[in-house]
Amino acid sequence: MLVEPPKCLRKPLFVPNKLLMGPGPSNCPPRVLQAMSQQTLGHLHAETTYIMDEIKEGIKYIFQTRNTLTLCVSAAGHAAIEAVMCNLLEPGDVVLIAVNGIWGDRASDMAERYGAIVRQIRTGPGNNFTLNQIEEGLIKYNPVLFFIVQGESSTGCYQPLEGLGDLCHRYNCLLGVDTVASLGSVPVKMDEWSIDAIYTGSQKCLSAPPGITPISFSKKAENKIFTRKTPVKVYYLDMKVLGDYWYCFGKPRIYHHTVSATLVYGFREALAIFCEEGIDNSIRRHQMCANKLYEGLDRLGMQLFIRDASKGCLPYYFEISGGLGPTTGKVFRIGLMGYNATLDNVDYTLKVLEESLNHARSKFK
Ligand code: PMP
Repeated sequence: MLVEPPKCLRKPLFVPNKLLMGPGPSNCPPRVLQAMSQQTLGHLHAETTYIMDEIKEGIKYIFQTRNTLTLCVSAAGHAAIEAVMCNLLEPGDVVLIAVNGIWGDRASDMAERYGAIVRQIRTGPGNNFTLNQIEEGLIKYNPVLFFIVQGESSTGCYQPLEGLGDLCHRYNCLLGVDTVASLGSVPVKMDEWSIDAIYTGSQKCLSAPPGITPISFSKKAENKIFTRKTPVKVYYLDMKVLGDYWYCFGKPRIYHHTVSATLVYGFREALAIFCEEGIDNSIRRHQMCANKLYEGLDRLGMQLFIRDASKGCLPYYFEISGGLGPTTGKVFRIGLMGYNATLDNVDYTLKVLEESLNHARSKFK
């Protein structure tokens, strides 16, 4: 054998049970884990496609949309950003991207790779955009697509979206929105807010495993996809064919790729749990936990601790995260997401922070 079976694989698999209180992923509820331990089914078996249809109905609920082009991409959230860009942009199209953290820059990078002309409106990390700022950008650059992030997870900034869809449409421009880090903790109303392309993360407030990402396109966006002059550059993310696999156009399903039946089961259960709780209750629970966390952090005087982020961490099976992009080395990012958004977890997070803070203080006195 040129390469022998590795010794490391002879040991049993080790997966610690960590409490994930960072900006994602969040822990999966036992019901989701249980669902994922079921046997694999084929990607075109009637039982699988039945569950995929249930998932589509669940996605319509979470996005509050009646769009028929509503489905999942079999990949992490990044693939959904790619899907928006590669389906709605053709080479030479102008796209306007709002940048106030890492995600706007990353979307710009992707759009450029598909040959679009990328224009940006920028504001400092932690600031969001006003309708006026956005309108100025629309007038100046005349884009075919405007892209913005509702919850900029690199800074924790929330972007209101009311009125944005109508504004974009007034300038003949589609609106694409990233709700990966926000959906489930704040309102998202795709149809009411006239959003043309939207996606969220499975592994954040929905507490499903990562690797399957819900996405939806409006009729306007669908029209753009079907009247493109050039084919979508990525077969895997081409909504015309992926939409056929997910039975979005009323045509017989085609084999597009082998969906992970395991992720389909897990995501279906996560959606079922979310639907049982209901959007408004989920938002209320997240807000309640956030308020309690803010009060606790204030009591702990977290500013001091943030400046010394790399030091003094105790070995808990627990995760919070450091900064990302413009906040690298400057902040801790704490997530209260989905299954993990409970008052007990807030207490535990504060306790870990307090003990770590005391530890760091004694060590560096
Ligand atoms: N957008 C936002 C706002 C995010 O927070 C993330 C994940 N941190 C992504 C997109 C990308 O998601 P994924 O890591 O699943 O590719």
